[in-house]
Amino acid sequence: MRPFQYARAQSVADAVGQPGKFLAGGTTLVDLMKLDVERPSHLTDITPLRENGELSQIVEDGEGVRIGALASMSQTAEHALIAERYPALREALLVGASQQIRNMASMGGNIMQRTRCPYFRDLAFKECNKRDPGSGCGAIEGHHRKMAILGGSESCIATHASDASVALVAYGANVVLRGPDGERTVKLEDFNLLPGETPHIEHDLKEGELIVALTLPVPIAQRGVYLKVRDRESYEFALSSCAALLDVQDGKVNAARVALGGVGTKPWRSPEAEAALVGQPATRETFEAAARAALQHAHPLSQNAFKVPLTARVIVRALMQAAGLVDEAGNSIEGAGA
Ligand SMILES: Cc1cc2nc3c(=O)[nH]c(=O)nc-3n(C[C@H](O)[C@H](O)[C@H](O)COP(=O)(O)OP(=O)(O)OC[C@H]3O[C@@H](n4cnc5c(N)ncnc54)[C@H](O)[C@@H]3O)c2cc1C
Repeated sequence: MRPFQYARAQSVADAVGQPGKFLAGGTTLVDLMKLDVERPSHLTDITPLRENGELSQIVEDGEGVRIGALASMSQTAEHALIAERYPALREALLVGASQQIRNMASMGGNIMQRTRCPYFRDLAFKECNKRDPGSGCGAIEGHHRKMAILGGSESCIATHASDASVALVAYGANVVLRGPDGERTVKLEDFNLLPGETPHIEHDLKEGELIVALTLPVPIAQRGVYLKVRDRESYEFALSSCAALLDVQDGKVNAARVALGGVGTKPWRSPEAEAALVGQPATRETFEAAARAALQHAHPLSQNAFKVPLTARVIVRALMQAAGLVDEAGNSIEGAGA
């Protein structure tokens, strides 16, 4: 690890405007510093602010909910407001990482986590535009089984790793940022940037800006599902995942939100799938059409082409569950008309 300046912030005002990186749970940042991938000259430790109500509380905010940036993944998943109103977020948090990491890791750090692409994390690979702009992308011609099929560019096909961000995008979450020039709010789906020709610029976060909170509007539906498929049953990132929110009235879809994980270069909201759902009968046929719509612009390579049919099945299953037509094991629910 390289030398760096270290300071502990005692207040939000202390932290705002500081150069370099903020240290929250440290579960991603410290790893990447040890690997020499992240090289901050300054580290501002914001863990003392966990005692500060603003940054760690989860409270009602108008008719929605505000989650302080330093609330832990565990605290958020277990909070009654989240469990009752945002079940897909709770599920997404509980299938991420391990209990120990969830206890340490903060919500602000979670949405800021960087890709698990091996070409990015391992300096033995010389080509990674995300780590060293202009060096190339090793994954496109190399190993790309786990890489993105949506939102990639000729510079980068690395996936976004956060499960929670997928559910947060489905719920229409906003990121509240405080910088030297004051506070601003950005929709999470706009906060994460597509790689284009600048894959090293991943977020709309200005130097010195601190994420103070995430805000969630009133959910469009009571029912919400997060379904995650991975190479092993626990402690693993998604190959493909789907957050599905459905409001079904008289057998028809009244409102829908669909977001995907493990397949996009950012948490991937699918307006195409949502348009294919709204106004249609809540049936498997409709959900299959929504899956086709979601994947119509998929751009797979040879090793990750399996993600297209896999993701179609993940979307259909998530929607079937969200509609109450099948249970978590995929069995038809009697009388639900599946
Ligand atoms: C073995 C392992 C398995 C994992 N599995 C999963 C998984 O399955 N699913 C999943 O979603 N995640 C997984 N994770 C990732 C984990 O969720 C993240 O490491 C964690 O959420 C990061 O939170 P943190 O508070 O520790 O962030 P830190 O490591 O402290 O910071 C991460 C980044 O966020 C920035 N940051 C943090 N807080 C703020 C703030 N308030 N304002 C501005 N910038 C900020 C930091 O400067 C840094 O750049 C896994 C991690 C590990 C180590």
